[in-house]
Amino acid sequence: MNEFLSDCPDDRESAPSESFRVDLDRIRNAVREILIAVGENPDREGLLETPDRVARMYAEVFRGLHQDPRVHLAKRFTQKYDEMVTVRDISYSSFCEHHLLPFSGKAHVAYLPAGKVVGLSKIPRIVDVLSRRPQVQEKLTEQIADLLMEELDVLGVAVVMEGTHSCMTVRGVQKPGSTYITSAMRGAFRENVATRMEVLSLIHGGSRGV
Ligand code: ZN
Repeated sequence: MNEFLSDCPDDRESAPSESFRVDLDRIRNAVREILIAVGENPDREGLLETPDRVARMYAEVFRGLHQDPRVHLAKRFTQKYDEMVTVRDISYSSFCEHHLLPFSGKAHVAYLPAGKVVGLSKIPRIVDVLSRRPQVQEKLTEQIADLLMEELDVLGVAVVMEGTHSCMTVRGVQKPGSTYITSAMRGAFRENVATRMEVLSLIHGGSRGV
């Protein structure tokens, strides 16, 4: 009988329990196989609980696969505010889909409302759901921008993400300390240079080292 994890209390809002199913046993077996394959002894004391810990970690860090980010955007407020809304320094952590190594950093999101806004806490929720999946930073940046563009009544969306990638520090080129920056501009932010410059100065204004 396989055990499935479906008990993350924070996620009930966006994760119908029937669809939030992670096969922990399968991960445990796979991790044990990896340990044997690299020449380790999975039965030595320090590694005994490692397959289980890794299985639970994967269930947590990939929980966004079983969540629909759109539920966070369902509730909107009518507001006579047509200036740019910016949410800066949203911490995120994700896993690169090429090596399953973590990358993390800050996301900055801005949008130009067309009569309706969403609660400010909803933007970080979107970033969280989409980053809790195997990802690449470019794709994550575009997914956030496209989702907001499609789901909200907006004139434009701008997303800038900064990330440091374990892939670059523990393997391959081994260049610790590099920050990778990606951006996605949609609607007015893409079409209008002045609007784009305004959002970039807002985002970079308080973001040290960028
Ligand atoms: Zn990678």
